[in-house]
Amino acid sequence: MRQKRVLVTGGAGFLGSHLCEKLLAFGYDVLCLDNFFTGNKRNIYHLLDKPNFELIRHDVTLPIYLEVDEIFNFACPASPVYYQKDPIQTTKVNVLGSINMLGLAKRVKAKILQASTSEIYGDPEEHPQKETYWGRVNPIGPRSCYDEGKRCAETLFFDYYKQNKVNIRVIRIFNTYGPRMYSEDGRVVSNFIVQALRDEDITIYGAGSQTRSFCYVDDLIEGALRMMNGPDNFIGPVNLGNTVEVTISELAEKIIAMTGSQSKIVYMPLPENDPIRRKPDISLAIEKLGWRPTVSLEAGIEKTIAYFKKLETEK
Ligand code: NAD
Ligand code: UDP
Ligand code: UDP
Repeated sequence: MRQKRVLVTGGAGFLGSHLCEKLLAFGYDVLCLDNFFTGNKRNIYHLLDKPNFELIRHDVTLPIYLEVDEIFNFACPASPVYYQKDPIQTTKVNVLGSINMLGLAKRVKAKILQASTSEIYGDPEEHPQKETYWGRVNPIGPRSCYDEGKRCAETLFFDYYKQNKVNIRVIRIFNTYGPRMYSEDGRVVSNFIVQALRDEDITIYGAGSQTRSFCYVDDLIEGALRMMNGPDNFIGPVNLGNTVEVTISELAEKIIAMTGSQSKIVYMPLPENDPIRRKPDISLAIEKLGWRPTVSLEAGIEKTIAYFKKLETEK
């Protein structure tokens, strides 16, 4: 019997590369598709000589014809700094990219999973956020290209499901961190760790009282795989994230303490439309997938510090 062939778009990115690694370990044929906008060959360098691994340089906004059994649609810059660099392209990645991948899934009858996001809830009035919450998103703000792009992608996924019977899955990922985040990526965990290791100022945006709930990458990948492999009558959307909510100030202090850094905290303006509170309600994932995070923030941050320490010494 032929091995399952799995396409991972955004496969050279932070989450995508961990996913490719896991899928290869299961013995699947893995097609990693990426245009290297925020991804890096370094993330998948160790996979290039594996016989079941194939790398395709391609932009998902353009059509592509492949024969696959499953698609993980992860292509899209995830850091606010990067997705705001070229906002029109960000919307295109989410809308045209999703249409192309859904068109592909429809043609070859592949199962397709969308990496959606907690950002579809915007700056939420409901706390913690449940899948039934419709969100509060500014349609014309600096984050809209990402938030509305991801919302439209969900719409497309559900309409391809209803109209064309495409076998879909949708996961809503809450802030996830870990090794292979890009040092200059701009996201808070990588920024703080790199600043702490360099004894540079730790840049808190706003007063630092805004909250996030941080999920370690291994937990997230486990959840994504359970969702893809779960029953066809549970298509989501399902929240995947850690429920331990911390303020950005607490995160900064934790990272300073864990790195033994001399860094000082400095306060910078809060970006426009930065959500004030964010924490997933994961009761649906627990009930339907038997999934819950297992890695504590301390243990995950420890591993992430070790990764960046190694990167810093290699420079
Ligand atoms: P990332 O930026 O490291 O990875 C995204 C990958 O997509 C990169 O390798 C990039 O080069 C690639 N890409 C971007 N545009 C592309 C295009 N047009 N064609 C092909 N490839 C393209 O980010 P990540 O954290 O790994 O996020 C992966 C996915 O998960 C994204 O869809 C993101 O929206 C979603 N997500 C991530 C988080 C998180 O906290 N990490 C949270 C919510 C959702
Ligand atoms: N597409 C693709 N690969 C495929 C099949 C489709 O990239 O294997 C793209 C193609 O660009 C198409 C889009 O997916 O425009 C949507 O496909 P669909 O069949 O839904 O619509 P249509 O072909 O009618 O535009
Ligand atoms: N943040 C910060 N300093 C940084 C980077 C981010 O204080 O150097 C804040 C940011 O304003 C936000 C939170 O940390 O409130 C999480 O930011 P990130 O970009 O990681 O993700 P998102 O805002 O998309 O959740």
